[in-house]
Amino acid sequence: MLISHFPRVQLLHGVTPLEFLPNLTRQLNGPKIYIKRDDATGLATGGNKTRKLEFLIADALAQGAQHVITQGATQSNHVRQTIAAANKFGLKSTVILEQRVNDGSVDYYQNGNILLDEILGTHIELVPGGSDINAALQAKAEQLAAQGEQAYIIPGGGSNVIGALGYVACAFELITQLNTLQLQPSALVHATGSSGTQAGLLAGIAATHSNLPVLGISVRAEKTKQEHNVYQLAQQTLTHLGLDPAILPAEKVQANSDYVGEGYGIATAGMIEAVQLLARTEGILLDPVYSGKGFAGLVDLIRQGYFTADDEVVFLHTGGAAALSAYRDDFSTHAAYKL
Ligand SMILES: *Cc1c(COP(=O)(O)O)cnc(C)c1O
Repeated sequence: MLISHFPRVQLLHGVTPLEFLPNLTRQLNGPKIYIKRDDATGLATGGNKTRKLEFLIADALAQGAQHVITQGATQSNHVRQTIAAANKFGLKSTVILEQRVNDGSVDYYQNGNILLDEILGTHIELVPGGSDINAALQAKAEQLAAQGEQAYIIPGGGSNVIGALGYVACAFELITQLNTLQLQPSALVHATGSSGTQAGLLAGIAATHSNLPVLGISVRAEKTKQEHNVYQLAQQTLTHLGLDPAILPAEKVQANSDYVGEGYGIATAGMIEAVQLLARTEGILLDPVYSGKGFAGLVDLIRQGYFTADDEVVFLHTGGAAALSAYRDDFSTHAAYKL
């Protein structure tokens, strides 16, 4: 395999399932819908960052680091998975949390991922929204170096060429599953944020010359900016793999930013409906910030007729259900289940 010479640790429990969603397919009366269960990677409630961390943690260990530093929003799934991965490999961790969402709810600041971060055990530092967070990561690394500790910086979302290798590997895994089931999906749809997932998938798909279109549903940036970020990282990832970046033409990088709503991490009616729909038809939990908005995009595109009964589509479930309790106000009916 193209990626076998890159250092890698094992974090995933195994190949994640590719499942058919019969009830949802019937209910929407459109394409056959399949789901790739990267919510089930296995590390401390799972999610897509686990795949990236297999390469990032291995690189940190190869460089002799004793400490990893990363950053994210208060309810970052990436931060939670990074702390868990660091713990497993005996690395200390420091996480810088940007107060990117200001909704003031107690649950947002104390429940969900942040509660799990505290249980996993780490050093948490808070910075205001809009801070120069890369400068803060650098300053922290220098401070630790002065104390004689070598720190390894993992960028937000684990999205650099090393982290993206995790999704090159996922593309290979998925293509094998699609071949086994003899499926030819019209699209692989997923939530896109810091771009590493989509960039890795596109690089892996291009490397195998398979013709699987990828559609990223943006959770933050506007379409043009998101496509630019994904394209840049996918090109760099192909170069890192020793391949010609020209094998990925720019027009294959597709993002849709119609489902962001008011902004990153802010609930939308479509997200709430999508989370309830998948939970109530198939018993699968999405998340409020990423996969819920990504899935809301897929459901809306099906209702608009963008995908039809002749199509097969695969939704990549990137995880994140650990954040649901942080959004209790948006989901709870406030019924008093109390004796
Ligand atoms: C980080 C994340 C994403 C987005 O992946 P990127 O590689 O940052 O684009 C999607 N879903 C969940 C649940 C995430 O935590």
